[in-house]
Amino acid sequence: MKSIAVIGVGYVGLVTGTCFADLGNRVICMDVDEERIAKLKQGIMPIYEPGLEEMVRRNMAAGRLSFTTSYAEALNNPECPAELVFIAVNTPAGVDGEAELRYVRAAAEAIAQTMDHPLIIVNKSTVPVGTGDWVADIVRNKQPKPIPFSVVSNPEFLREGSAISDFMNPDRIVLGSLDEEAAQKVAQLYLPLRVQGPIMITDLRTAEMIKYASNAFLATKISFINEIANICEALGADVKEVAAGMGYDKRIGRAFLDAGLGYGGSCFPKDVKALAHMANVQGKHPQLLEAVMQINADARRSIVAKVRALVGNNSTHLNRLEGKTIGVLGLAFKANTDDIRESQPIDIIRMIQADGGTVKAYDPVAMPNAAKVLQNVKLCQDPYEVAEGSDALILATEWNEFKNLDLVRIKKLMKQPVIVDGRNLYDPPVMRSLGFIYRGVGRGY
Ligand code: NAD
Repeated sequence: MKSIAVIGVGYVGLVTGTCFADLGNRVICMDVDEERIAKLKQGIMPIYEPGLEEMVRRNMAAGRLSFTTSYAEALNNPECPAELVFIAVNTPAGVDGEAELRYVRAAAEAIAQTMDHPLIIVNKSTVPVGTGDWVADIVRNKQPKPIPFSVVSNPEFLREGSAISDFMNPDRIVLGSLDEEAAQKVAQLYLPLRVQGPIMITDLRTAEMIKYASNAFLATKISFINEIANICEALGADVKEVAAGMGYDKRIGRAFLDAGLGYGGSCFPKDVKALAHMANVQGKHPQLLEAVMQINADARRSIVAKVRALVGNNSTHLNRLEGKTIGVLGLAFKANTDDIRESQPIDIIRMIQADGGTVKAYDPVAMPNAAKVLQNVKLCQDPYEVAEGSDALILATEWNEFKNLDLVRIKKLMKQPVIVDGRNLYDPPVMRSLGFIYRGVGRGY
């Protein structure tokens, strides 16, 4: 049993803290957001993540998991002072695409000013290469009196929507530190997990780079298949079959070869940007990363272009969708999450509105978050209410409940039977036989 503090109780911090508690450790999670902590103390989740609520409540009841807004309470509980503190605060994109480190800085300063005993500071946030050294400098400079500490980089690879299972069954654990003993202590925390690969110990900067390189590679796979989809569309091939055929090759693999709306969410967009920024600052020209980002932006635009082509007004000016109602199914950036950061559907809705179109939308869990950022969108009770009177429907998030819609009913409700499928969820011949005008992405028509 270890005593662990987690700073930042978002998707990563809350899942990390809860899973470590579930493995028998004593965990206290700290966040500056008072409302978030007050709700968590009552067992109310700040985020949607399958299986999380039950696990949080069970570990709170067992006395292994607690929440606070106080750094002192998180670090210096006299009965069980924290041996390790995980930093899991957000690192959003800054104005030039760089990773914004002000929350990491605030956490490092607060740790330095609060700690009253030796600590291992573990950085779980995705941070630019060199940040571990920078955090160590901050802590050293801000400590009122010198107290020994080590910094270990431990990037997180979990996915929203399957975060608990990803955390409990990681492909590998990456640890970076100059202090081998500190890294070994962090490694011990992971020994009870079903780690598929190794627990890899390397230096700080290399560990930080592994996270960026991994996310950039997955984003590249997505943009690659979207480029192939574009070519498929022109040449009459079906990208879904192409991806399947490619994926059987073990050197390639099927994962992340789904053509569609491109990547979104709180990680890939900002991480690819941040890596490109790091390269540019060093005078390196990240040509591949630039192309990945451009292709990704095009994927969203091309969905709107398809809608315009199918139901738009015959105008070369703006307002090409004036007088048209477009229904959007899904608002989250992917299924099984309520996260709408850098969400493709939200972007697409804004483009439709800029074209003069009216938007109706539905999402099983992301509507409360979407309501905070969208204006003049009618949020509906279910997909059928979205379909009612719509000139076109866009399938924007691959939620399971959209896979088996009553399409005959949908068609009857729509003003025009037009579906643009941004996730290639439906079968083009079936859709046509039902009488829809159907467009997927790269489906060879
Ligand atoms: P999040 O926005 O969901 O949560 C961050 C939390 O940190 C918020 O609750 C915020 O109030 C809190 N916070 C900010 N500053 C603080 C401070 N000084 N002290 C205490 N709390 C503070 O973020 P997230 O999605 O969990 O991401 C966290 C980090 O993990 C990011 O660097 C991200 O890139 C990385 N990451 C995220 C995922 C993911 O799927 N979301 C996966 C892997 C890695």
